[in-house]
Amino acid sequence: MAKPTDQSNRILLFTMGTIVVIAACIGWFNYQQQIELFKEKELFKLDCIANAVGYKLDAKEHRRLLQEFPDSTAVDALAKDPVYMEYRMILAQAVKMKKLSSQMYTLIYDSTENHFVFGLNSDKQPLWGFSYDSYPQELLELYNTGGVLDMYEDDNGTWLSAVYPLMDMEGNVVAALQVDEKFDIYQMRARNKVLFNVILSLIIIFIIGTLMFFSVRHLLTRQKRIAQERQEVENLRKELLANISHDLRTPLASIQGYLETILMKDDTLEPERRTQFLNTSLAGTVRLRTLVDELFELSKLEAKETQLQAEPINLIDLIHDVVAVHRGTAQTQQVQVHTHISEDLGLVNGDTKLVDRVLNNIIGNAIKYCNPGDRVDIAATSIEGGVEVVIEDTGAGIPAEDLPHIFDRFRRGKTEKSGTGLGLAIVRRILDLHGAEYALKSMEGQGTTFSFILPCWKAAASE
Ligand code: ADP
Repeated sequence: MAKPTDQSNRILLFTMGTIVVIAACIGWFNYQQQIELFKEKELFKLDCIANAVGYKLDAKEHRRLLQEFPDSTAVDALAKDPVYMEYRMILAQAVKMKKLSSQMYTLIYDSTENHFVFGLNSDKQPLWGFSYDSYPQELLELYNTGGVLDMYEDDNGTWLSAVYPLMDMEGNVVAALQVDEKFDIYQMRARNKVLFNVILSLIIIFIIGTLMFFSVRHLLTRQKRIAQERQEVENLRKELLANISHDLRTPLASIQGYLETILMKDDTLEPERRTQFLNTSLAGTVRLRTLVDELFELSKLEAKETQLQAEPINLIDLIHDVVAVHRGTAQTQQVQVHTHISEDLGLVNGDTKLVDRVLNNIIGNAIKYCNPGDRVDIAATSIEGGVEVVIEDTGAGIPAEDLPHIFDRFRRGKTEKSGTGLGLAIVRRILDLHGAEYALKSMEGQGTTFSFILPCWKAAASE
């Protein structure tokens, strides 16, 4: 079955893909529209130019030039005619100013030959008198009225063009001014512009899409993590409740049993038995008290209610004090306890009560899980930036399979010794609160080494 994250990834990718496809379709549609728009704009431009330039040419003068210089053989003499020179300049300037890529010219329709001949032209090389046979039919239609020619083909290529008839006072058309632009050039310009817009919008869509993709994915992952965390908390709560009720019920049942026996057999119970029952009940209440205290301590630490009262701690004194507390138990269990504390040990940064709690638990455990004849070594040495405390015992050790979970609450090894299984969980929370590094190494039957590093007071104070 696909994981939810894979599924949401796929949905997001599909959405992104769809957006890109839609964007591409819109882009293509936009491209077609833009081409059409460009064409209309270009035709309008050509028409304006034709009108503006044609207005400056006098039909009468044009006719005179035609009459005086009837064909291409008269080109040399024509070139010297001042009107011709002026008109050619007008055309040339218009081409230059309007940045047209092809030349501008006038055409004269020869009805006897049924073809056009060139008149004026903007180029230095005159076309005067040359015939133009491959003209489109539409050109003939526009010769008398003027207008635009939407894409036509001749021997020289495909064109967009505008026509302006030069008329004399009587309304007779002497010639027509034609302004044209090669279709490929205009198309290329239009395509470049549209492509630029399309690519730009695709890039923007891509960036927005990517941002959207990552933020949605981040949101989904966060939601999933929150749901997982909630589930974990719920599981832990159930597990905790089960553990607590079990651990509370056992000593309570025993206390209740002994007290009931004492009450029932009040007259017959021997004084030694009564004392024994009362002592066992008392031990049960002590155990209950320890359990409740540790639970309370742990829940405060887990709820982050415990505030770190950081202060300089003299570990030499603290370790000796804790060892002194456990000395009696160690002697009873025939366990030797040795300390190896550097004399130059500096002050460390921490909460004395909490560090005391850590030392008590680890040293207490080390002694508790030792057999008669074993030993516990407690060393404290200065290292760079802090002090390392190592508590090593030659006791029972922890089975390898228990090690990964040994810091979890209610995790207890297979042991006859009494305990709550909360000590190491409390130790871990306290060390985490101090930002201290810690490690536990153990081999079943060979012993356990617990080490942690507390930052020195100066280093912590200067941070
Ligand atoms: P408790 O000692 O109350 O059971 P802890 O949380 O202090 O709870 O320890 C959890 C378990 O880790 C213990 O039950 C024991 O099995 C194991 N353990 C801790 N310290 C040692 C040690 N020094 N040697 C062997 N086992 C240990």
